[in-house]
Amino acid sequence: MQLSGSISGTAYKMQAEPNILPRKIIIAIDGFSSCGKSTLAKALARKLGYNYIDSGAMYRAVTLFIQQNGITLEELSGMSEEQLEKMLDHIQITFRLNSDSGFSEIYLNDINVEEKIRDLKVSDWVSPVSAIPAIRKRMVRKQQIYGKNKGIVMDGRDIGTKVFPNAELKIFMTASKNVRAKRRFDELTEKGFMVTMDEVSKNIEDRDSKDTTRKESPLRQAEDAVLLDNSNLNQEEQLQFAMDLVSTLKTA
Ligand code: C5P
Repeated sequence: MQLSGSISGTAYKMQAEPNILPRKIIIAIDGFSSCGKSTLAKALARKLGYNYIDSGAMYRAVTLFIQQNGITLEELSGMSEEQLEKMLDHIQITFRLNSDSGFSEIYLNDINVEEKIRDLKVSDWVSPVSAIPAIRKRMVRKQQIYGKNKGIVMDGRDIGTKVFPNAELKIFMTASKNVRAKRRFDELTEKGFMVTMDEVSKNIEDRDSKDTTRKESPLRQAEDAVLLDNSNLNQEEQLQFAMDLVSTLKTA
């Protein structure tokens, strides 16, 4: 996989507070499915004038490619390392700036798939796909390149444990199951996806179970991550919580 292209800076320099810290840092946000990681990560990136990378989108794009090419999960799990590498070589993932939203969106082989990868069909397959070591290896390598110059907020499942074990700030997010299912259901139906609460809840449970029990980089809270349970917090309160943590780094 080429995974070429650089990420463009956010368009929020005007509203941002980029100099809140004397130097750029890496912020890693991990946690369970659908607990608002990307919402908080984007808000933080906007506030700090940092880039935001949705690492889950990368695994979703690979999953979409697999589905579009008629490869079954059974076939995928039977592939040799060499076959997987070959397949990955046909997948080009890039992030490009959407000047309206100010955030980068994901492209799979030059096609914007930012919306398509949110489909429940993709969600249903993404955990087994992302459990495959050869796929993780490629993604992690690219994610690390994105973080080379710091000034980045990345969310995912293994950002604080594997991708950036030395990130200056690590947040581990969780929320009650009902709250998470409701949030994801609202998000999907708002985007026009035809889903039921039951389907959404099952998918969240299934992904959490697979993501926490897989062999390679399972989802877990890094020892030095700060836990944020946002079941009863609105977006503003979550951003305040995170910015308070950022402020404590001023003198660190
Ligand atoms: O973040 P999002 O829910 O879009 O992630 C989709 C899936 O991608 C997760 O359920 C997980 O299986 C996988 N993932 C991962 N490692 C990451 C980010 C996502 O394994 N860093």
